[in-house]
Amino acid sequence: MFARIAFDLPIPTEFTYAVPETLASTLQPGQRVRVPFRTTSRIGWCVALEESTEVQKVREISAVVDETPLLPEDLMQLASWIASYYVCSLGDVLQAMLPSGVRRRAPRVRRVVRTGTGQLERRAPAAQALLQALETFESPPTIAQLLRTAGVSRSALSTLERAGLACIEQMEQDDRLDAPAPAALEQPPRPEPAQAEVLAAVAPDLIAPSFRVHLVLGVTGSGKTEVYLRAIAECIRRGRQAIVLVPEIALTPQTVRRFRARFARVAVLHSAQTHKTRRREWKRIRRGEADVVVGPRSAVFAPVPALGLIVVDEEHENSFKQDQTPRYQARDVAVVRAQSAGCPVLLGSATPSLESYSNARAGRYTLHHLPRRVRGIPMPPVELVDMRGEKGRIFSTRLRLSVSEVLTDGGQVILFLNRRGFATVSVCRRCGHTLGCPHCSSMLVFHKRRRRTVCHLCGHECAVARKCSECFSEAIEFIGWGTERVAEEAAGAWPGARLQRIDSDSVRGPQLEAALDSFRHGETRILVGTQMLAKGHDFPNVRLVGIVNADTALHLPDFRANERTFQLVVQVSGRAGRSDRGGRVLVQTYNPDHYTLQAAATGDYEDFARRELEERELLGLPPARRAALMIVSAEQDDDAREAARAVHAAVVQEAQRLGVELRGPARAPIERVRGRWRWMLLALGERAGVLPALGRRAQKTRLSRKVDLVVDVDPAAVL
Ligand code: ADP
Ligand code: ZN
Ligand code: ZN
Repeated sequence: MFARIAFDLPIPTEFTYAVPETLASTLQPGQRVRVPFRTTSRIGWCVALEESTEVQKVREISAVVDETPLLPEDLMQLASWIASYYVCSLGDVLQAMLPSGVRRRAPRVRRVVRTGTGQLERRAPAAQALLQALETFESPPTIAQLLRTAGVSRSALSTLERAGLACIEQMEQDDRLDAPAPAALEQPPRPEPAQAEVLAAVAPDLIAPSFRVHLVLGVTGSGKTEVYLRAIAECIRRGRQAIVLVPEIALTPQTVRRFRARFARVAVLHSAQTHKTRRREWKRIRRGEADVVVGPRSAVFAPVPALGLIVVDEEHENSFKQDQTPRYQARDVAVVRAQSAGCPVLLGSATPSLESYSNARAGRYTLHHLPRRVRGIPMPPVELVDMRGEKGRIFSTRLRLSVSEVLTDGGQVILFLNRRGFATVSVCRRCGHTLGCPHCSSMLVFHKRRRRTVCHLCGHECAVARKCSECFSEAIEFIGWGTERVAEEAAGAWPGARLQRIDSDSVRGPQLEAALDSFRHGETRILVGTQMLAKGHDFPNVRLVGIVNADTALHLPDFRANERTFQLVVQVSGRAGRSDRGGRVLVQTYNPDHYTLQAAATGDYEDFARRELEERELLGLPPARRAALMIVSAEQDDDAREAARAVHAAVVQEAQRLGVELRGPARAPIERVRGRWRWMLLALGERAGVLPALGRRAQKTRLSRKVDLVVDVDPAAVL
């Protein structure tokens, strides 16, 4: 017998090894094995077994690493699909599927005793004592613990074991940690008619499990989460498990609390967890001891034994796409996984991705509307503020007056800006030279409190330059606005109101929760921040949201710039007026006539989507067609350009044959990152299926070692 073995190497093929006699009857796909590789040995995954092979001179597997398959069969199949669709190696995918705590090493095991269901005709006193002792333990005791408690000999236990009244099992040491005790569960509110309608449409797919994708287009605060919770409850009633994917930044204690308040057996997966916690949660899930799994994109790989539903909240979020190998889009993987499991998917957003929306329009997904907020709470009015008459001031007169008014009235304010730091550009007033990152084609951002200038692309930092490097003048000026500067300005304008800045520079982990709690309790009156505060938070007393600059994303040289801008404005606006005291939103922009901002102000998603889809159709861009982006980079610009041409030459015929349009090679919009010049090639095809084939062809191009090629199928951005 032979086994196909995958390694976590960037090679898209597997290797064949012979299975030794001793393993022939036990080895299964999903188990890891140790094999000789070149002059050393490596750990690899057994991904398939074969009766014969054409490979000459096969070497033999040395040993198994896992006693039982680490990944169940359905996930092994999903891994194959991901490897072939996203053009990467199976080993890379398997690596990404397992939390690092699980894959690191074989865990320590101990032997424990559980009660069995067998019968014993004549119960000896020793056996009786053992059974009584066994009942006093909350989790299975070790053999020694049990014998000590019962005060009997090992042979008494053997008698019980033979009768099937007790069984001895291997148990991992940390499995004995108890899961958090379930709190008292809360009663769900009665669904409103619009919610009930969605639930009625989804219910049949949960009751007689079948695959269908439901897209819930619901305004902020329309009760989407409540719909998910109800659907999950139905799924659990049918004895199945649900997976809930949320964007990384929305995975707050508040979000988790909502699920724990409703269901007793919730598992949470999170990248900030310790290896140990993550392993414990993963094992619980694998054993079917969690009914609901909540986590970021990698939770789509949660090894639940009977998948009944996948929910993707804020499905438009970029964080569902992984920006390194394997470059999978968790929302799409969720759909593929649900399809093979035969269960429904619930996608929800106030601003669905145009991909999902066009799938709904084409009838592939079922569209549902939640057009109003629950409990009759109105949507906040959104007003555009034309900044062209404001002479470069950061707060328009209108915003200034409105903030003062709301504060006087006891309300709270959120000021949102999508840029960290103090000033975004350092410029010499004498010669006009701007300070760029030495490694990237980007500006250095001035961080005032830390007195450093920082590249937000590569993290390069240096002390603030006193003199211009070109003309040695000392007339360096800091222009442009970041959250640090907005916070400083706001503190000066409203000295009586406590203010908190929230971005990845100012708060981390537990600090963030404390800062948000203090705002929720009304101690802080003004919150200044980036999108870290846009998701997963419900602040009832926020009566004014000011979007300081709505144009930051509008001018990105990416075809999704409008879509991102629309999402940003609508999502941030959604933080306002969540109580009956009402609220409003002011959006500062230099482009008040832009249809994206106009649509965002009226909150008319479908109007925006129609126009934007027409535009994409005209330009032949996603979702009208599918895209694969190929980025070639090298330290020398010439090397990168030459390699991009070589890749183009390697795929051009295949592209023609497949009816794929190639654009480029051209310089990438971000020309240089981390010292590497970047050239790109964009492939556009009518059908998704043809792009991976082209990507694999590109990967076969003979390129010098100095050059790096990245193939990104369904890229989140073309930058
Ligand atoms: P979304 O996910 O669309 O932003 P949520 O589900 O979070 O909306 O609902 C917003 C708020 O309204 C939450 O505080 C939630 O508890 C509450 N809510 C949702 N549905 C109902 C309902 N049917 N009756 C009363 N309150 C509800
Ligand atoms: Zn100068
Ligand atoms: Zn840089």
